[in-house]
Amino acid sequence: MSSRHVEIAGAGLAGLTAAAALGRRGWSVRVHERGSELREIGAGIYLWENAMRALEDVGAYDAVTASAERVQSPELRDHRHRLLQKEWLRSGRLYTVARRHLHQCLVDAAREAGAEIVTKSIVIGATPNGTLQTTGGEVKADLVIGADGYSSRVRDSLGLGKSTTDLGDGCGRHMIPRTADDPVGTTIEEWSGGRRVGVVPCSPEETYIFLCCPESDVEGRQQQPFNRETWIRTFPHLKSQLDRIPDNPEGRFATFHDVQSKGWHSGRAAIIGDAAHAMSPNLGQAACCGMMNAVALGQALDRYDIETALRVWEESERPVTDRVQRYSRLYGRMGTHWPRQLLDARSALVWALGRSKPVQTRINFAASYFPSLDTDDAENLVKG
Ligand SMILES: Cc1cc2nc3c(=O)[nH]c(=O)nc-3n(C[C@H](O)[C@H](O)[C@H](O)COP(=O)(O)OP(=O)(O)OC[C@H]3O[C@@H](n4cnc5c(N)ncnc54)[C@H](O)[C@@H]3O)c2cc1C
Repeated sequence: MSSRHVEIAGAGLAGLTAAAALGRRGWSVRVHERGSELREIGAGIYLWENAMRALEDVGAYDAVTASAERVQSPELRDHRHRLLQKEWLRSGRLYTVARRHLHQCLVDAAREAGAEIVTKSIVIGATPNGTLQTTGGEVKADLVIGADGYSSRVRDSLGLGKSTTDLGDGCGRHMIPRTADDPVGTTIEEWSGGRRVGVVPCSPEETYIFLCCPESDVEGRQQQPFNRETWIRTFPHLKSQLDRIPDNPEGRFATFHDVQSKGWHSGRAAIIGDAAHAMSPNLGQAACCGMMNAVALGQALDRYDIETALRVWEESERPVTDRVQRYSRLYGRMGTHWPRQLLDARSALVWALGRSKPVQTRINFAASYFPSLDTDDAENLVKG
């Protein structure tokens, strides 16, 4: 089994996790990244318990948590600045981390697992017989993985794409220098009308700010240059954080999309991460699911031949991710598209939901889920 070879398109969080997971399981791995350097775009990221377990699997947990914030109290506040929830959706460990740190740790983990990462290698497609097509020619493997993000060439060339839906909202993301005004061991998510702000400490030096609003909110969308006045008007008590966003920050307004696929594999080719299931970031679970599914794929390939492994993996894990995507969309509707005249009713509803821990666990059920495809649990899927 140890001579099996995989070619992976994309060195993002999902592709690198897959590279490390398979490399550690004895595969020879090559990753193709179109960028001229290995880097992650964006600001900070939430990593829930399922992602922490994926990081443990690939040997990156210690490195990631060495510069991350352990969050005990993810707070949710409403338009009157009232604390609605103190441990909103938390189940198990929750860390927040700078994306470029997480990405670098995964690059290191993939290389330590023996993976070769080739930059400036542009993938144009794949075939079900395990061929990856790049602008430099074709390469053949036992398995091909498309981890090439939301507009995946691999997905589309395999005919696995079904639909991409614009969800009508989006956000700006910025890193600011951390000061004593920022929370410690606590994240703040505050809702006001259709706008949502997150104040998220990520490392000893940096705090991540996200600013979500409907696409129709013309002033709210203005991130470059940053329309500071409009956001301070809505969230005056967050002035200290909003003042630290540069006038012309790096972060652009990113719109949210759901990607739906017809399937996650075709023959000896699979898609993972945003290529398979991009979703709104409202639950902070999209990358967590991508990383978890990469580990699940490694588990299945450990136990079964490639065709069986891909089938078992998709049958077992896809319903989990589909459900996360649905819940995340619903959360976004509540947070961003709720009628203005009913904001107090929204607060009452969220407060009531939060009184029941099982309801919260249900909304963010993925945090307490982790695949176990290398155990007997998966046998019934094989038989089916
Ligand atoms: C505002 C916002 C906040 C978010 N917050 C969270 C959060 O808190 N927690 C969470 O879990 N998720 C979050 N997400 C989602 C998360 O960012 C994504 O799910 C994750 O980054 C996707 O990783 P990926 O590796 O699948 O794709 P990508 O990050 O898109 O990586 C794809 C890689 O493939 C490369 N590539 C693309 N095309 C080609 C090609 N043709 N040839 C070669 N290489 C190619 C790209 O250069 C890139 O390196 C958030 C998303 C947004 C927009």
